[in-house]
Amino acid sequence: MKGVAEEESYGILDNLKDAAVVFDMEGRILFANQIVENYGFRREEFIGTNLLEYIPAEFKSQVLEDMKKLKEGHSVEREIRVITPKGERWVEYKGSPLEGMGKNGNILVIIRDVHERKSKEDELRMLYEFTHKISSILELDELLKLTYEELKKVLDFDTYSVGLVDKKENVVRIEFSMERGRRLQKRSYKISPETSLSSWVVYHGKPLLIDSLEERIDNLPAKVHVIGGETQSFLAVPLFFRNEVIGLINIQSFKSRAYGERELRILETLSRPLAMAIGNALLYRELEEKIKKVRVERERYRTILENLIVGIVVIHNGKIIYANKLMEDALGYRTQDVMGESFLKFVHPEMREYVLENYTRRMMGLPAPRNYIIKLMDSKGHVKWAQLSTSIVDWEGTQAELVSLQDITHLKEMERRLMALVKVFRDIKMARSKEEVYEMAVNALFRVLNFSYAAVGVVEGEKIIMRKSIGYEEPDIQVLDLYGGRGVVAWVARNRRPYYVPDVQKEPLYISTGQVTRCEYATPIIVDDRVFGVLDVEREKPNSITQEERDLVDMLAEHVAVALVGLERQEELQKAKNFQELMVHILSHDLKNPLAVSSGYVEMLREEYSEEYVDGIHRALRESFNIIEKVRLFSRLGSGRIREERKNISLKERIESIGALILKKYENVKLLINMEEINIEGYPILDEVFLNIIDNAFKYGATRVSVDASEDSSVVEIRIADNGPGIPDDMKEKIFEPFERLSSQTGSGLGLAIVKMIVELHQGKVWVEDNDPQGSVFVIQLLKSMKR
Ligand code: ADP
Repeated sequence: MKGVAEEESYGILDNLKDAAVVFDMEGRILFANQIVENYGFRREEFIGTNLLEYIPAEFKSQVLEDMKKLKEGHSVEREIRVITPKGERWVEYKGSPLEGMGKNGNILVIIRDVHERKSKEDELRMLYEFTHKISSILELDELLKLTYEELKKVLDFDTYSVGLVDKKENVVRIEFSMERGRRLQKRSYKISPETSLSSWVVYHGKPLLIDSLEERIDNLPAKVHVIGGETQSFLAVPLFFRNEVIGLINIQSFKSRAYGERELRILETLSRPLAMAIGNALLYRELEEKIKKVRVERERYRTILENLIVGIVVIHNGKIIYANKLMEDALGYRTQDVMGESFLKFVHPEMREYVLENYTRRMMGLPAPRNYIIKLMDSKGHVKWAQLSTSIVDWEGTQAELVSLQDITHLKEMERRLMALVKVFRDIKMARSKEEVYEMAVNALFRVLNFSYAAVGVVEGEKIIMRKSIGYEEPDIQVLDLYGGRGVVAWVARNRRPYYVPDVQKEPLYISTGQVTRCEYATPIIVDDRVFGVLDVEREKPNSITQEERDLVDMLAEHVAVALVGLERQEELQKAKNFQELMVHILSHDLKNPLAVSSGYVEMLREEYSEEYVDGIHRALRESFNIIEKVRLFSRLGSGRIREERKNISLKERIESIGALILKKYENVKLLINMEEINIEGYPILDEVFLNIIDNAFKYGATRVSVDASEDSSVVEIRIADNGPGIPDDMKEKIFEPFERLSSQTGSGLGLAIVKMIVELHQGKVWVEDNDPQGSVFVIQLLKSMKR
């Protein structure tokens, strides 16, 4: 029996949507389900290897620590990267010892791919970092070089270039171009749709992604100019500044198919702050050029400085001699209060010493950092963060230090929130119930992201139930119609897309509840196309939810979804474990009955021979056989191991022959089959459906069963009605679940679960209704021909 239980019980893991791996204490893999193939492993080759092979060095000690805990009988969970044939991927694993299943010493881990969301966290963090690093640099060349270095950290490329539009000449000039650490020559292309790929991007103001130049050679939008090595993958996005295309950023790889949607998304995201910085640097360059040509009069000089989108201060002898408007706005001082003051006055006390030292060293011509993050204080004493960059300029005849400052307070704040949220994400995964997940989510929205109101709505049938909310004292609407037409939350659940309402008073979808809300954002909680519900956040000021905040809410929604699926899977697994226990139970316990009966007959046979005893043995053995068959069938169905040929099935003929078979078992019963000839496409195993339902009817006390069938162009409906005891409402769905029975005495409780699985295998539906005046009607709907 061990062999059967072993194979069949692991077979249950094949039902899971996550990868499941069973290994021994040494890490040798004993079993892996089909899902491991999604990671690029061949299942047969994977089994038998040691799991430590797949752990990168930096995670080895953590994994070994977990193995130790598992040996001691504890459960573990962790996020790590693993080595797969498709490259390293972030996964999350949950491991537990398999004792409960009678297999001492083995370990089961369930592994989920979390690469996408981990990468998103990384990308966001990188975006913040990138933005503050580059945003205050005024020298174009320096800016482009730094961008190159920062980009190298996140994207893989052989060639990097930035082109700028020259409107006068109507060309795009490749300003900066590096190939494997070597600068390439500058070059220009006429701006037209076909002169070059760069021209195409600038001309259309659209990104261009070519995964394989070789394969698409006959189908390229524009001419390709080979400058350095042989490019295979090409990705470029336009740079927009004040709604105009000012240039493009482009990366190329010598490898085919190096770029896809992910790289495009990253480059597009980074292109926004980059375009701002470049636009700014171009303004500054204009200024420098003018200074070189003529001594620019004071006013011209200042006009340009006022136009820059960074704060500018000019310092001479430690005193501020100029500050632009932006600087004043950021710090909340008026010009007259700033002029002539020591610049140190605006630096946070913690940093004064450091800043002064840097300044002094620079003034003395000694090396000192020119770009760094500085902590300032505004006129109200609040902390402000700025990215600072300095250069020496000729200011009205004397040398002065020009400092550009980009206010990054909100970036710092976003970073802080992201970090706080990442902690929440971790906690959410540990939640033990859905309620707890909802609670954590709304709390995070309220406390970390500071929304005035946050709620989570859960889709249940055609309704959305608001399960948890925080913020307003008066409760908001509690139940919504999913298909009710109006309501932002319902719209989001229906369309599976986020929806931002800058001003609810101008939003026809919005249902007013007399709240003070003016601005709302709702995003779906969605996994694999299934909408669990919606996260909804609100604020009292119109248009007060930023894009960055919306991104964070989306991330939270993803984590909530993952946690909810996790909880469901855990339940499934728990059930799966119960399956195993119950299967062993049925095999050992339920089989004892008929076996005991037959051994009784054998004893009696020893005393005297009788046909009756032989019949008894025969009946008992047949029942044992039936039980084993049901368990096997159930297990095979569960692991998707039914591989029969589809056939043309005559329903009338099958039901009649099954009916005849069943009638042999029962006395004084009637079976009426009222149906025309109906043919459908299906698997022969469909017999089990009719067999189980008709047999159950008589088994549970009916004396009369009728079978009716009707059809339309695509669906067949079969109704099997009996006059038995009927099934109470609260059991009508449950009886289709394995091991659910009305009374614990008879049967295995598997029959209807098998029925349901087979009907679903045929893409059909089955349910039970009350019969009039008594009994039940089992209704089966099947497609005449299955969708593939
Ligand atoms: P089993 O018959 O092996 O217990 P099933 O899954 O076939 O398992 O049925 C589940 C339960 O549903 C049965 O135990 C019985 O209590 C109830 N049931 C099934 N069919 C009928 C019926 N026609 N009338 C009344 N009760 C039924």
